[in-house]
Amino acid sequence: MSSSKLEFETKCAKVVIDYSKCEPAKKNITDPKCGFACVKADRFYDRNILRIDGNKPVLALPKEDAKSRSNESLSWEYACNMTGNNAIEIAVDFPGLEEYRKKINLKI
Ligand code: SF4
Repeated sequence: MSSSKLEFETKCAKVVIDYSKCEPAKKNITDPKCGFACVKADRFYDRNILRIDGNKPVLALPKEDAKSRSNESLSWEYACNMTGNNAIEIAVDFPGLEEYRKKINLKI
């Protein structure tokens, strides 16, 4: 049985694609309304990290190579969110962020 999530790391981020939220993966269709926006964004703004396989976005290279290949565009998450599916989360560590938020008294 295949995993319901694809998780991998780039140089500065951790990426999770949740197939339970991914339109073509859920419906097992080749022409989703989202138009595989994440893969298109990858072609435009990143470096061909993703490809379509089995009606879902998958890594186009071994996980360990994503760290050196990706340019950290974050475009996949934005593109998926714009389709309303919100299937991709990219977490980026910001050392010192909490201290900075306190320093400028940021409440949100
Ligand atoms: S844009 Fe979102 S819903 Fe569409 S294929 Fe990519 S991850 Fe799945």
